[in-house]
Amino acid sequence: MLNEDLKINQEGHLLFGGADTVALAKQYGTPLYVMNENRIRKICNMYKQSIEKCYHGNGLPLFASKAFCCKEICRIMNDEGMGLDVVSGGELYTAMQAGFPPERIQFHGNNKTTEEMKYALTCGVGHFVVDNLTELHTLDNLAGCMHGHANILLRIKPGIDAHTHKFIRTGQIDSKFGFALETGEAMAAVKEALQAKNVTLTGLHCHIGSQIFEIQPFLLAAKVMLTFIRDIKAETGAELQELNLGGGFGIKYTEQDQPVPYDQYMEQVSKTVHSCCSEYNLALPKIYIEPGRSIVGESGLTLYTIGAVKSIPNTRTYVSVDGGMTDNPRYILYQSTYEAIVANKAEKPRDYTVTIAGRCCESGDLIQEHTPIQKCAPGDILAVLSTGAYNYSMASNYNRVPRPAVVFVKDGSPRVAVRRESYADLVQNDL
Ligand SMILES: *Cc1c(COP(=O)(O)O)cnc(C)c1O
Repeated sequence: MLNEDLKINQEGHLLFGGADTVALAKQYGTPLYVMNENRIRKICNMYKQSIEKCYHGNGLPLFASKAFCCKEICRIMNDEGMGLDVVSGGELYTAMQAGFPPERIQFHGNNKTTEEMKYALTCGVGHFVVDNLTELHTLDNLAGCMHGHANILLRIKPGIDAHTHKFIRTGQIDSKFGFALETGEAMAAVKEALQAKNVTLTGLHCHIGSQIFEIQPFLLAAKVMLTFIRDIKAETGAELQELNLGGGFGIKYTEQDQPVPYDQYMEQVSKTVHSCCSEYNLALPKIYIEPGRSIVGESGLTLYTIGAVKSIPNTRTYVSVDGGMTDNPRYILYQSTYEAIVANKAEKPRDYTVTIAGRCCESGDLIQEHTPIQKCAPGDILAVLSTGAYNYSMASNYNRVPRPAVVFVKDGSPRVAVRRESYADLVQNDL
């Protein structure tokens, strides 16, 4: 089994977080997102403890809510003492509705609208992560007009090419995110930010990409950022006190993926941070990290009901499910890999090679191609694993398909966190 939270019971049913997935499908219908709350909390705890240990508590892990955003996850993150990274007014609104403390929120985005910035100032978010000079000026003016104030970090492109899919790579110079170091753009922005009246530059941010398995790019990024903090101090006299190192830790989608344990990333990065600080004679900054996928990815799976099974001789077998790109657009976007299990036949061998197809009017609407599952028939329940990140949050209503419900399982007991959309929900804004 892919991870320790997946088991098989005596009936041959797949268990996830102690809950029988076949029973969940029956009780709540399909497609269904299932989130394992115990695992989510366990990983948050691990990150918190790592910060405690590596930086003597002078830091905070922020959950990157774009990976999975609803009120319930915000409540859990608050309960775990995590911070939150939001990238839009909508994510911020969700967090505020869930009672999340705004001072532990950092507001990201490469093109925040004026309305969003006003809203975030009104909420009193802890930090804005400023992406560009247009934003810096607008924010400074808005804060002045509103007799307010904002703490900011500047988003820096550290110029590191992490080996991951090009759509989820963000740290290199040809990226739409942030200020470039090599060209002097970043230093110029720092100087402007230090002059700005209504914002305080507290530090820097970088995020080199997503689903990264090596430690080296993270170490390099930390070193590049601290070198820049040293250079800023030398040129301006200002010693920045905060450093956000972003997220991007890889997870296990299939048996081929071998992620480094997250506390090892944390310890190695911390060694680099400590040694750079002592070499450059800098005080240890407050460290933020922003894991998204690594907290929720393997903590989720999606359940479908199998419909038609279509064998095309000498070609392939299509197994159609009652969802697809509307609940999981990652295969059509990035050819992402997934493993699937027939949940009610989980003890049988996975010796049937199939293509799992969705129900949308797109030939590309597939979940996985040429993948082994158990021999199956219409009415069986299919579980697609590791769908907790960037599935629900990327879901759409294409073909006017209502979005599935989200069920959280804690200590084996399920509860609905997001109810299934109805047809009435689909037309509620139509005039
Ligand atoms: C997406 C993103 C993250 C989270 O990345 P994961 O790969 O999900 O850990 C963190 N920070 C920023 C700025 C991001 O854009």
